[in-house]
Amino acid sequence: MRKSLGERADVAVVGGGVAGLAAARELARRGLSVAVLEDGRAGSASRAAAGMLAPQAEADSPDELFRLLCASRDMYPDFAAALGEESGLPFEIESTGTLYLALDEEEEEEVERRFTWQKRAGLEVERLTAREARALEPNVSAGVRMALRFPRDWQVESRRLLVALDAAAERLGVRVNRGVEARGVRVRSGRAAGVVTSEGELEAGAVLFAAGAWNSSLHKFPDDGNPYLNDDPRVEPVRGQILCYRQPAGQPPLFRHVVYGPRGYVVPRRGGRLLAGSTTEPGLYECRVTEEGARSIAARVAELAPAVASLEVEDSWAGLRPRAADGLPVLGESADVKGLFYATGFYRNGILLAPAAGEIVADLLTGGATRLSPAVLETFSPARFQRVSAPPQLVAPR
Ligand SMILES: Cc1cc2nc3c(=O)[nH]c(=O)nc-3n(C[C@H](O)[C@H](O)[C@H](O)COP(=O)(O)OP(=O)(O)OC[C@H]3O[C@@H](n4cnc5c(N)ncnc54)[C@H](O)[C@@H]3O)c2cc1C
Repeated sequence: MRKSLGERADVAVVGGGVAGLAAARELARRGLSVAVLEDGRAGSASRAAAGMLAPQAEADSPDELFRLLCASRDMYPDFAAALGEESGLPFEIESTGTLYLALDEEEEEEVERRFTWQKRAGLEVERLTAREARALEPNVSAGVRMALRFPRDWQVESRRLLVALDAAAERLGVRVNRGVEARGVRVRSGRAAGVVTSEGELEAGAVLFAAGAWNSSLHKFPDDGNPYLNDDPRVEPVRGQILCYRQPAGQPPLFRHVVYGPRGYVVPRRGGRLLAGSTTEPGLYECRVTEEGARSIAARVAELAPAVASLEVEDSWAGLRPRAADGLPVLGESADVKGLFYATGFYRNGILLAPAAGEIVADLLTGGATRLSPAVLETFSPARFQRVSAPPQLVAPR
């Protein structure tokens, strides 16, 4: 007889990062019993993120991803308020906005194009001369040529978000199984029936794979055959490093806005901390800050904001962003296992996506459709990875 991991749940969620917890919370709000499996491995992206909620700052066209990101950002004020109430921990967004700097002619042209399309599309964006930018934020580089201000591109303290999501989920009755490694989904007659874990099996009516950069190591275990992968979105890790600078106590904050440029960003946090990032290093499961990474971030900070570069680096860390084979989020039901859902591949936008992704997963899992983004069923569905002609890829049984 198989060892069992406690009571059956309506939904078992693999992964307790922002993707898993946002979905678990929303499912519990809708009255489902939910169990999360989180083994606490190093490299969680959610705990490393800079927390920018900035869909507009880098967007050069209004594609489906852009629309989804904007919808999620617009949900944030209500999401944050509800989370504060549910968790009992005050949780706020910082809504000063984002300043995007152009430091040379090429960047100026790029920024000018961005301003034009976004203005035409009716989005909130302001074009600032160099003088206006420095009047607003006197500590940006003296070499700034022009800037865009995005008043609706906000930020949150992502570690606080995780703590609040965790507390809200638990208060709503979600059972979080810490230190338990999931190995994959148990498949019975083509349907998800639970999760195979290091501690035995957890029976569930549906399963959500939200295991970040490790999502593609989760397998499908049919009752009658070998484990296999099939419509797997081939999620890979993309390491990002962050340096955390600190201003001396008692100094007024160097910045109020998030300061962004094509090669980096500085995110001011309360209490005099400034986060600077980041690197983009695909294929690495090794989660650490490297000398080269730190050097390149410091060089970019010196370009954007020399005043920050001369501060003390108080801390540094790295995280593994989950990127699917096509770089887009993966949201929805598996093409070959009924009742198996995915919330992964959030890559550079997982914090921003939390409210929308939580709602979409809960909508699809409870009703098969979502009003939030009708395109989700096509553009972001895991079915796009189904290898129609290829036989299932076998993996070694564990
Ligand atoms: C440096 C950096 C800066 C970023 N900045 C931003 C930003 O400003 N704005 C933004 O929106 N996004 C940002 N991101 C991206 C964002 O952090 C990610 O998209 C998001 O956190 C992904 O969340 P996730 O839950 O999918 O993955 P994770 O947070 O990595 O969570 C996955 C969880 O699953 C667990 N797990 C994995 N496998 C198993 C298993 N087999 N069994 C049990 N548990 C398992 C892991 O322990 C982990 O806790 C940044 C990322 C990095 C690294």
